[in-house]
Amino acid sequence: MTNADPLELAKFSDLAHKWWDPESEFRPLHQINPLRLDWIDQLAAIKGKQVVDVGCGGGILAESMARRGAHVLGVDLADKPLKVAQLHAMEAGVANLEYRSIAAEALADEQAGQFDVVTCMEMLEHVPDPASVVRACAKMAKPGGWLFFSTINRNPKAYLFAIVGAEYMLKLLPKGTHEFARFIRPAELARWVREAGLDTVQYKGLEYNPITRQYWLSGDTSVNYMVACRKPLAA
Ligand code: SAH
Repeated sequence: MTNADPLELAKFSDLAHKWWDPESEFRPLHQINPLRLDWIDQLAAIKGKQVVDVGCGGGILAESMARRGAHVLGVDLADKPLKVAQLHAMEAGVANLEYRSIAAEALADEQAGQFDVVTCMEMLEHVPDPASVVRACAKMAKPGGWLFFSTINRNPKAYLFAIVGAEYMLKLLPKGTHEFARFIRPAELARWVREAGLDTVQYKGLEYNPITRQYWLSGDTSVNYMVACRKPLAA
């Protein structure tokens, strides 16, 4: 059985045509992309590297990494976002970029130890068994490879900001985009990362100011956050 929730995939397929509109429901992803791209590139120096982006959606991060010279494979299980990603890459003439519909676990079996960098952003909180995705990502990475995960914390502040604020007050995201129970505490993600045999290198918070409508990176992981990990050289 595939580790995917058909309702979650349908939500992203229904909105896929808006993926590259920076003023649409995907505005937050467009806004955070330069921040996460720079952070990933600073740590993992992606130019010329083999990169897989798990849960790539319409390709905002995947395409931006390819533009920096990485060889990128984007994978997702929602068909329309993948088609949008493919079309956008073609129209923009971005090379070194490929998209496939395949589950993380299946790709890990097929291409174990093949990737210098694995990114899995804003995806784990949409999956029935996120620990299984973390294990699959670990398996895809080469020894010494980098892994980057991002998700949303589970606490009253995250509920207020990520659901009440973003979906109901500011209407940044459609209602029902996120389910509070699926949010992930940093300690939970840290445990899955450790159990997958990875070393945690760095946490970063992504903060948002609703007045200035700006995001920035910080040490505050109380709502949106990212973690950088490495697969040990001798596993
Ligand atoms: N990672 C992208 C898109 C985030 S939106 C970015 O940060 O820009 C979440 C994505 O996860 C959607 O494209 C959705 O289709 C995908 N997704 C949800 N469940 C999935 C699963 N089980 N396997 C692969 N992708 C999944």
